[in-house]
Amino acid sequence: MTHEEREAYLSFLRERREAILSRVGDACARSGRRPEDVGIIAVSKTVGVDEVVLAWQAGYRAFGENRPQELKRKLEGVAGHPEMAGVRFDMIGNLQVNKINQVLGNVALIHSVSSEHLAQAISKRAFARELRAPVLLEVNVSGEESKSGFSPDEVRGVFESILALPGIDVRGLMTMAPKGDESRARSTFSGLRELRDDLRDAFGAPLEELSCGMSDDFQIAIEEGSTLVRLGRTVFNQGYVLK
Ligand SMILES: *Cc1c(COP(=O)(O)O)cnc(C)c1O
Repeated sequence: MTHEEREAYLSFLRERREAILSRVGDACARSGRRPEDVGIIAVSKTVGVDEVVLAWQAGYRAFGENRPQELKRKLEGVAGHPEMAGVRFDMIGNLQVNKINQVLGNVALIHSVSSEHLAQAISKRAFARELRAPVLLEVNVSGEESKSGFSPDEVRGVFESILALPGIDVRGLMTMAPKGDESRARSTFSGLRELRDDLRDAFGAPLEELSCGMSDDFQIAIEEGSTLVRLGRTVFNQGYVLK
């Protein structure tokens, strides 16, 4: 990017961030929640290091990546920016067992633990490295075949044994809603919250994080209790229309 292009993109990122924060505030007001209880993960999977650095300058502090290789590229890129020392990266995408070690210790939270096998594999590697990996369990609340994650019944069945695994710390649940249908999005998010409440009552785990809501549906997700919205296009794409 030329200097002018960087300045123009930075202004876009700043203005868009203000607009997003105002939508977050409105959704919180509608649902009696506090804006400080909703974290924004800027999903940087489709942009480069330059854009991440500019997004930091615009005020974002947490980024989400869905591929270990891309995570590595971003971490190396931001390492040259001492002002970004406190930057947070989360893993939000499908994680293969043979890539776990690239991610462990480099991310604040793994959102996408989608099977008991993966939970066990993360546990084993984290325990061996004397780490305690914060994770979310990904739940396919809507039941769409294309989506990965535990079914709600599966989570209930395996929750106790996952909770007992060493080296991982289950902080909550994550889901993705069907595209383009607001009422199904809402029932997916409320279903995630209700499942969390059931698990909390049954097992006494706090499960404070609900990771749900993307560019098209984050306002609904916040109304239904999301504590982490994962925003990609609306943060980074000038062509994306924020409603
Ligand atoms: C890409 C991605 C997002 C962001 O989606 P947008 O619609 O661009 O906001 C959120 N969560 C996951 C898991 C993703 O892969």
